[in-house]
Amino acid sequence: MHVKSSVPLLVRFLLTAALGEMIFMPQGMAKVDGRVLAVSPQAIGSTHHKLPSSRICDGVDFGSFSFSRVKGRNIHIDSDWKEQNTQFIWFFATKGESLREIDGKLYRTTQIRVNRKAFESGCQAFLRARNILAERPDLMRLVKTVSVFRESYSKGSPKLSSHAWGLAIDINAADYPYGIKVKNPHSPNAILWREVFSKAGFRWGNHFSNVGGASDPMHFDIPIKK
Ligand SMILES: [Zn+2]
Repeated sequence: MHVKSSVPLLVRFLLTAALGEMIFMPQGMAKVDGRVLAVSPQAIGSTHHKLPSSRICDGVDFGSFSFSRVKGRNIHIDSDWKEQNTQFIWFFATKGESLREIDGKLYRTTQIRVNRKAFESGCQAFLRARNILAERPDLMRLVKTVSVFRESYSKGSPKLSSHAWGLAIDINAADYPYGIKVKNPHSPNAILWREVFSKAGFRWGNHFSNVGGASDPMHFDIPIKK
C-alpha cells in the first residue's frame, strides 16, 4: 500500500532530522520529540549579551541583544536587533560586485552590513575609513575583499565576535590568514592600517599577538572598553 510504504521513509526522515538537531545543538538545549522539525534557533535558547561603550565612541552604548547558539561558533542573532542596529553600506573592494560612479569615475564596491552607531552616528568609524579611501585611489586599490557581519563567537575565545556587532571588518582575508603575523610594512594591509584604519579609529588584529592573542592580520575592529 502506498501509505504503508511511505511510513518508514517518514520515520527515517524524522530520525535524521532529530539526530541532526542533537548533533548541532549544544547539549541540553534541544528536546527531541515529534516537534523537532518546527524548532527554530530562537526557540532553542538565547543569551542576553551587553557590550560596553567603545573607547573611541565615547559615550556610545552599543546596547545588548539576544541570540542563540546554533552550531560550533555560530549563533543566531535576534532579527529585530539586526534590523534596528545594523545597516547596509557600500564599501570599496576591487573584487566587489557592483560599480559606483564618484566624480565621473567608476569604482568597484561591495555591500557590507555594519553597526549604525559605527557609521553615520556615534563614532562614524566606517564612514571615516570610506572617506579616506575615496580621496586616495592608490590606497583604494589595496582593498580587494571586505567582510563585516558574521553571527559567531570569536575564534579561540569565549567572547562574542565583534563581527556579530557589525564593528569589525576583515580585509583581503585570502591573503592574510588568521595566525600569521605580518612584518613587512609595505604589505597592503600594513599600509591600510597606517594610512586608513588607524586614522578612522580601528585597531589592527595583526597586533593581537602583542597582547597574548593570535595575530589576525585580515581583521580591523573598533576597540571596546573592557
Ligand atoms: Zn575579523
